[in-house]
Amino acid sequence: MIHDATSSAARAGLAAGPGADPRLDARDRIVGLDRAVPVSGGRRVAYVNFDNAATTPALKDVADCITEFLGWYGSVHRGTGARSHVSTRCYERSREIVAAFVGADPDRHTAIFTRNTTDSINKLAGLLSREERPRVLCTILEHHSNLLPWRQNACRVECVDCRASDAALDLDQLEERLRAHSGAVRLVAVTGASNVTGFAPPIHRIARLAHEHGAEIFVDAAQLAAHHPLDMGRPGEPESLDYVAFSAHKMYAPFGAGILVGPKAAFERGEPTQSGGGTVRLVSEERVIWADTPEREEAGTPNVVGAVAMAKAAQVLGEIGLERIAAHEAALRAHLAESLRGIPRVRVFGAETPEDHSQVGIIGFTAERMDHSLLAAALGHEWGIGLRHGCFCAHPYVMRLLGVGAAEIEKLARKADLNDHSGFPGLLRISLGLYNTRREADYVAEAVRDILERGPRERYILDRPTGEYVPETGCVWPEECCPL
Ligand code: PMP
Repeated sequence: MIHDATSSAARAGLAAGPGADPRLDARDRIVGLDRAVPVSGGRRVAYVNFDNAATTPALKDVADCITEFLGWYGSVHRGTGARSHVSTRCYERSREIVAAFVGADPDRHTAIFTRNTTDSINKLAGLLSREERPRVLCTILEHHSNLLPWRQNACRVECVDCRASDAALDLDQLEERLRAHSGAVRLVAVTGASNVTGFAPPIHRIARLAHEHGAEIFVDAAQLAAHHPLDMGRPGEPESLDYVAFSAHKMYAPFGAGILVGPKAAFERGEPTQSGGGTVRLVSEERVIWADTPEREEAGTPNVVGAVAMAKAAQVLGEIGLERIAAHEAALRAHLAESLRGIPRVRVFGAETPEDHSQVGIIGFTAERMDHSLLAAALGHEWGIGLRHGCFCAHPYVMRLLGVGAAEIEKLARKADLNDHSGFPGLLRISLGLYNTRREADYVAEAVRDILERGPRERYILDRPTGEYVPETGCVWPEECCPL
């Protein structure tokens, strides 16, 4: 058990130096690491962040770049002064950088800035919804953001299952479905990596299958972009990706930007998915002449700060090297998964050695006879470890992993109707970033083992509406740590 920030920082390898992983010397490039946070019992410990799949901390280069850019920050596209010119230049340069980051073709692809991955998918679903009930082949691995927009936009959505053996995507079933509806599937919408287990389906192989059967492919790269090289490939080639989307806040760049990259031609037909300022060449009382893409798809004043932050992060990740980041996170994941598997009562989801797919640095696990919510609370409040638990906006996949059947889901639905989320099924999730170290991995494994062996040290109260456990003595963080 750790008792002060200095010793816990040393134990968790938080400081750059002997404790840090020598292969990726990126730890001192991140804002806010080694921050001492209050934990129960009046102690402070160095915070260990394993919640990178939700949001990554910021890169210092991004923070510096934005501070500098704010000196020039102004209106984009429409002003005549220096600020406006510089801002427009930076915005358009950001677009080029982010598009190049995923290997987009500047002549044939368009890169549309959005708010996040969810916004990007809604935009694409809106585009598709103009067709007559298009058939979209999804997978059970999907985050709700790559499921609900298709449903809501009147697509005929079918989900490919996962394999019972290792919870990876069932590629045989995917092929079967494509064959069964050959020529009739409009889009295969698949995650680049699951935010629950880290499984990374073979997206280029799936692209080939989709194209062979007359479908296009969309890849939700929210969990891939900052962790693994991603190359859309040359448009028209069998293994190329037609559309990809990802979020800046998951790639070490706050400020709320996202991107949707896809074929220019797809966005130049008909009306834009949203209209308003910036989307037109001319409006009269009777008619509208729409602008070209991407302007016609970016209604309203764009988030230039977010775009610049995203581009800077893409540059830095490229400079560090996505191959190196992937190797670092894979090694750390393997080490930590093995440690967790060695703890009695812990079950890590997925195969030890993936066969036909790769994996990003996400570990989903459960502990027998301890509510995921209680274990997560003890890790946070007693050990200063940040992670997530629950269903991670991927309810169908988590229910499948946990074997929760239709009757049980009905009962949960009745509870949810009464605003009671206590006892909901779920996993704990450790998600790695490029700065996490082996010592941090060992620290969380030690914490899990300790809590399971000896029980939480604090007494916790269950908050039924959220299903969260909070220390009986109250939560110290929000009051003390909020800068406002
Ligand atoms: N897809 C996946 C796989 C995700 O993990 C997430 C975020 N958890 C999203 C989509 C949605 O991303 P955002 O909230 O940035 O829109």
